[in-house]
Amino acid sequence: MLQLFYLGGKIMCIFCKIINKEIPSYTIYENDFVTCFLDISQATKGHTLIVPKKHVQDIFSLEKKEAEEIMKAAVVVANVLKEKLGTKDINLLNNSGQLAGQTVMHFHLHVLPRYENDEIDFHQVDHEPNFLELDKLYSCLLYTSDAADDLI
Ligand code: 5GP
Ligand code: ZN
Repeated sequence: MLQLFYLGGKIMCIFCKIINKEIPSYTIYENDFVTCFLDISQATKGHTLIVPKKHVQDIFSLEKKEAEEIMKAAVVVANVLKEKLGTKDINLLNNSGQLAGQTVMHFHLHVLPRYENDEIDFHQVDHEPNFLELDKLYSCLLYTSDAADDLI
């Protein structure tokens, strides 16, 4: 896992340093809320990270405005990639938490253009539907929309 730094009492990490332009990046889109730069590893051609300028760790730390701006930026970046690279297929991915595979502890959304025979394989286990379990889950998760909105 990558290291966190403290500067003037504020948490700094490798992505904070990129946002502050202390280390270089291939930034392809930026506004007051987000910086979007090419992932150094390029899982596929055009693989881009959407990163909020404020250091927040994961999806649970995002405020509403940041969440809105991240999604807006993902749509912008997807269209840039479509326009410039001709990509018509895209995955959006966020890893939040260690079990989910997060390695940089500053929230980021991966924008992954997809190509014929690329190396990505999101293998999903396919179960037969179990409606008893689905009923139980649904009662556990049922919120009125207003109550759910109040969670962020
Ligand atoms: P995670 O595994 O946390 O979802 O994704 C972290 C991503 O950050 C990885 O895909 C990794 O390649 C990328 N990354 C790590 N360090 C750097 C860096 O210094 N610059 C850039 N552009 N990407 C980085
Ligand atoms: Zn950071």
